[in-house]
Amino acid sequence: MELTNTINRKKSASLFEEAKQYFPGGVNSPVRAFKSVSGPPLFIKEGNGCRFIDEDDNTYIDFCCSWGPLILGHNNPQVRDFVIETVKKGTSFGTPTKLGNQLGKLILDNNRYIEKMRFVSSGTEAVMSAIRLARGFTGKSKIIKFDGCYHGHVDSLLVKAGSGLATFGVSTSAGIPEVFAKETIVLPLNDQAALDKTLAEYADDIAAIIIEPVPANNGLLLQEKSFLECLRLKCHKYGVLLIFDEVISGFRVGLEGAAGYYDIQPDIITYGKIIGGGMPVGAYAASAEIMAHIAPDGPVYQAGTLSANPVAMAAGYAAIQQVTQEGFYEKMQAKTETFVAQIQNYCDAKGYEVNIVTIGSIFWIAFSKDTIRAADQIDAKSMELFKVLHHELLQKGVYLGPSGYEVGFVSAAHSAADLEEAARLINESMDVVFRK
Ligand SMILES: *Cc1c(COP(=O)(O)O)cnc(C)c1O
Repeated sequence: MELTNTINRKKSASLFEEAKQYFPGGVNSPVRAFKSVSGPPLFIKEGNGCRFIDEDDNTYIDFCCSWGPLILGHNNPQVRDFVIETVKKGTSFGTPTKLGNQLGKLILDNNRYIEKMRFVSSGTEAVMSAIRLARGFTGKSKIIKFDGCYHGHVDSLLVKAGSGLATFGVSTSAGIPEVFAKETIVLPLNDQAALDKTLAEYADDIAAIIIEPVPANNGLLLQEKSFLECLRLKCHKYGVLLIFDEVISGFRVGLEGAAGYYDIQPDIITYGKIIGGGMPVGAYAASAEIMAHIAPDGPVYQAGTLSANPVAMAAGYAAIQQVTQEGFYEKMQAKTETFVAQIQNYCDAKGYEVNIVTIGSIFWIAFSKDTIRAADQIDAKSMELFKVLHHELLQKGVYLGPSGYEVGFVSAAHSAADLEEAARLINESMDVVFRK
């Protein structure tokens, strides 16, 4: 279906044409280009609370929240004020700062699963460093990842399962040497048998298993707790490190992330997104014993010119302080559940084939009634329905991430009234999606 009514995006459209002269595809991160939906991407000029405004002066209730970091909504006053206060004293010194200590202490004091951490500047960097640490710690080189989990644009993780009987991965991007991809084994999620078989055969070469414990980059593929527990058990048994990539789930499904949600102790945890309060911050963390392998204490080298710069630390500190408030996550989950139920009940009453998957303040609209726990269960054709929904919602003033594989995020700034309004607009749009 061709969706051409983009009349309210004239300025965005012309800025996008200009941007194409400067940036590949007009963007600085590929999904922003709206390739899987329709029309030009929105150019946003301002955000406040749960809403943002584009260059054409349209206002949207935003459920992308900068792809997850903005758990407090746009332009959170405490974050903004602390950033301004800090930036007046300079942006970066290339030395340790007290603010770094403060954010480190706040995080470690509130998380039973980690003892020491290192700040970096993105989720990708956190994952890349965690993999190196696991290899340095174990002296082994192969890693296992799961189909449907995204871990940033790390060479050895832009890999999918080889076809047929091939055990080792093939890269999903040009520019990745085959020998790198071969160091990665890709398995289906939620499949203990495939895991058993692979570990039995290759455990002596495997440094780590990396998983998004709440896989939220390819739909929301919630795992059975027993599968995550099995990972923990098998990793112990075979001397393999378990890495939880909590770049999305960290500080999102609870203060202790998915580790706390499922009460499973991974060996290394990676963070990003929320940890920086909207500034570029990532981190990896583990026991003191494992982290002792990082330079300058140990032989695994990892460094960063702007790591833990005070402005980013200030944003992170002001944000994390707010999510540590008593009852914060319970409230977030309760209002997300109410919101999701308003849509689910409507779709059920109308007989629309929709299932909204949710955990904490994350939700994903699946156009299928099946319980989906693995990437290959998602029907690619259903993305055509998402495209119509997305387009319709842009006309009505609701912004979802521009792909049906992306999850939505509710922030603390979405009030009950905002969510009710959004649910009504989503329901009206569902009528268009299913009118056909
Ligand atoms: C977003 C994300 C990353 C990559 O983080 P960037 O800051 O975009 O580099 C890695 N892992 C997971 C689970 C993510 O969601």
